[in-house]
Amino acid sequence: MAAPGYARPLQRQPVSPSIDAKIAASCPGQVVAPWPKEAERHPVWGPWRQTLEGAATDPAIRFAGASGGALSALLIHALNTGLVDRVLHVEADPSHPLGNKMRWSTNAAQILAGAGSRYAASSPLAGIDCALAEGGRFAFVGKPCDVSALRRLSRHDPRVAAHVPLMLSFFCGGMPSEDGARRIVAAMGLDARQLQSFRYRGQGWPGLTVATTAEGGRAEMPYSESWGAHLSREVQFRCKICPDAVGGTADIACADAWHGDDAGYPLFEEEDGRSLIAARTATGEALLRSAQAAGVVDASPLPISDISRMQPAQAQRKRMVAARVLATRLLGQATPRMRDLDVMRAARRGRLYDLTHNFLGTLRRVWQRRWRRTWAGMHR
Ligand SMILES: Cc1cc2nc3c(=O)[nH]c(=O)nc-3n(C[C@H](O)[C@H](O)[C@H](O)COP(=O)(O)OP(=O)(O)OC[C@H]3O[C@@H](n4cnc5c(N)ncnc54)[C@H](O)[C@@H]3O)c2cc1C
Repeated sequence: MAAPGYARPLQRQPVSPSIDAKIAASCPGQVVAPWPKEAERHPVWGPWRQTLEGAATDPAIRFAGASGGALSALLIHALNTGLVDRVLHVEADPSHPLGNKMRWSTNAAQILAGAGSRYAASSPLAGIDCALAEGGRFAFVGKPCDVSALRRLSRHDPRVAAHVPLMLSFFCGGMPSEDGARRIVAAMGLDARQLQSFRYRGQGWPGLTVATTAEGGRAEMPYSESWGAHLSREVQFRCKICPDAVGGTADIACADAWHGDDAGYPLFEEEDGRSLIAARTATGEALLRSAQAAGVVDASPLPISDISRMQPAQAQRKRMVAARVLATRLLGQATPRMRDLDVMRAARRGRLYDLTHNFLGTLRRVWQRRWRRTWAGMHR
């Protein structure tokens, strides 16, 4: 972890030129996987075969999930039907409750142990080489950038196609630093060093942020405050120029099916969870249909044009990526390669005022950051 609490790749030993080339061709800091061509495609919401709104039919799964528990229900169904024999996903790290660790799940109870969104750095691919070497058929759940990296790796490593028949993701508003989570704990009046557990959300919709300590302390905070006042302000720069924050390369991507106020801003009042489900590939569509037929997921079609109403922040961010990337590149800072992700098509939907504002704002931020680094270097 690097200050203020972002995960950063660190090379501990030299690697061969061929492995170095594989990393460079897969790392989402270098290149983002293009969206598949077979499906219909929306410049903001990505490739799609079906878009639906619904939830897990099992109330316990729906309650445990971050939104409607659709991801967990689909994973359990994939296990029960033999599509996969295990699932590689994220759960809270008991030895560091603000953070995450990876887990293997082979049954419903284990899947539910990882349900809920963890707004903390996760590295789902850290152990991918061992996972692929073990063989079998497993489902992978990761952030959109994780799935992008795995898709890119599959171009060089045939084990990915052989052993990972299912990749699931979610819409991602970006990864906040751990400092943001520590500020939440402080605002709750607790000591982060004493934490026993920390849940970002889930167990209800959107679900409260809940912290407990070894001494029996417990505090809660509504999601609107934990995300709105703390975490969203700590999102790292790479995520602000993400051309695929909607999991466009996953088989299925899920999100919150927020219902907004008259101005379209999502209301974050506690209610039964609702998931937005985008089936993007033939594999994803087949799993979703099978889960619906088995009564595991209850969902009805959602016109793709309605997603903007549910996810106004995601829509605006995609429209602004081109302006932010242009500003970043003009100042000579590297950005990932982002071909075939409809960045310019989305930009054409943006308002000129917003595009200009984002372009100038990014120029200022990149310039300030560079100046701060130079200043720190001069006074070290
Ligand atoms: C950093 C982050 C930002 C997000 N931003 C948005 C957003 O802008 N808009 C939106 O609609 N939704 C966003 N989500 C996703 C949303 O919170 C729900 O995860 C999504 O709606 C799926 O809900 P579910 O009930 O179907 O999933 P669940 O049934 O709760 O399953 C969630 C799955 O995601 C995995 N997971 C949780 N956290 C992580 C993580 N950090 N890294 C990798 N895997 C993880 C879990 O292991 C679990 O398998 C974000 C999630 C994260 C982690």
